[in-house]
Amino acid sequence: MRLPGMTREDTRLAIQTIFRLAQLYVPVPFDKVSRENKALLRISIGPKEDFDREGNTLAMAEVLSLRDPDPREIWFSPFVKWSEGPVTETEINPIPVGAHEVAHALGFSHNPNPGLMSPIINRLVTTPSANEMEYFWSAYEEWRPA
Ligand SMILES: [Zn+2]
Repeated sequence: MRLPGMTREDTRLAIQTIFRLAQLYVPVPFDKVSRENKALLRISIGPKEDFDREGNTLAMAEVLSLRDPDPREIWFSPFVKWSEGPVTETEINPIPVGAHEVAHALGFSHNPNPGLMSPIINRLVTTPSANEMEYFWSAYEEWRPA
């Protein structure tokens, strides 16, 4: 997979970073599996018909409970110019966007306060706030660190 605007290698590194960030707060080991194996979470470029051409919708995710064993998907917009470098007006870094979408796929919903799950993505935020974690653990008591 290659995000539009980025090389295949930079895309791979960005996705690796997104999963490393998720492992900081959810004790789920992520392993890359080959296409033939069933993955719990699949990331791809979304179908053009599901995204606006202006790139207002950056990405989408299926929101499933962390307890749900069904596979879930994250789609990045094919119409955004993605960039891992310094972000300009027209380029978007996939890491904060992916971190937000992975959190959805792990059971986090939107939260009106500033944080990872604010509906407007803040490019400086890549992990949940203390309040977001508290809310998450209230639903997933078994994941709360001892
Ligand atoms: Zn969202």
